[in-house]
Amino acid sequence: MSEAAIELVELKKYFPVSNGFGKGRSYAKAVDGISLTINKGEIVGLVGESGSGKTTLARVILRLTDITSGTVIFDGVDLSKATRAQMKDMRTRVSVVFQDPASNLNPRETVLSSIMRPLIIHGINRKDAKEMASKAMSLVKMDARYLYSYPHQLSGGQLQRIAIARALVMNPKVMILDEPTSALDISVQAQILNLLLDLQEQLGLTYLVITHDLNVIRYISDRIAVMYLGRLVEFGPTQEVLDNPRHPYTKGLMAASPILNPHDRGREKYMMEGEPGSLINLPSGCHFHPRCPYATERCRTEAPMDVKISELHQVNCFMAE
Ligand code: SF4
Repeated sequence: MSEAAIELVELKKYFPVSNGFGKGRSYAKAVDGISLTINKGEIVGLVGESGSGKTTLARVILRLTDITSGTVIFDGVDLSKATRAQMKDMRTRVSVVFQDPASNLNPRETVLSSIMRPLIIHGINRKDAKEMASKAMSLVKMDARYLYSYPHQLSGGQLQRIAIARALVMNPKVMILDEPTSALDISVQAQILNLLLDLQEQLGLTYLVITHDLNVIRYISDRIAVMYLGRLVEFGPTQEVLDNPRHPYTKGLMAASPILNPHDRGREKYMMEGEPGSLINLPSGCHFHPRCPYATERCRTEAPMDVKISELHQVNCFMAE
């Protein structure tokens, strides 16, 4: 049986938002009761439009922001009950790579200083830290001479390799990749995705890949999680979901993906209408009902439950009942 690397149980993250002077406050429900398990050695792709809460979910897992309610279990340890030592250990074993590598590197620091910094913070001496930085560079297939470069001297692809080296240097078990290729040219995107797949296999890593690009998900992930306005609406094996999407939102995302199904050109497709809406004024019932062509009165008043349609495939829609 697969062993869980990360388990999320009914996870919620609400941000308070002022309604104006004397009018109290509302909440932006960026993550609204998400439960999912990512197994060790697995790649899960998290997809959804901008504002669906994907990045907030990553920040909650990384504990960069507090949880409103629910639980994050990392390698069997409930982080809400973790000791200081367990939290410190978790911070070295989960790392993150963001979309824009240039913004994560100090323009006044050499690559070496940037990669060494997390090691120095964790008390590793400079000599060992330098050796570990060189090893991380070789893992991302970059010559050690680039350690003495500054960010402005490097291309977008080289910067993303360095961001990955920096994430690898602490020897993590889990990596969260937030739009890892969307700032890159298309030819470089493929190189970075292949590098990530090689590293995952070589080091036995677990990935959570956050993206709005279904082509990236199809290429890299074992399972796909689809998020809409703070909720998980579909979760299952990538091939199964993409071949047979069951949630109307997943179908809409696929229809909107220009390269995914070139053979579908000319065929009639369900095109989603409207904008995703706001996390502050969420629609009642099923959050997707204002855009859903199949919405009924029940969808406007009642929130659907997750329905299992196969062992690993679940859908949050009344039509799947
Ligand atoms: Fe559409 Fe209703 Fe399903 Fe929501 S529950 S996706 S509104 S059919």
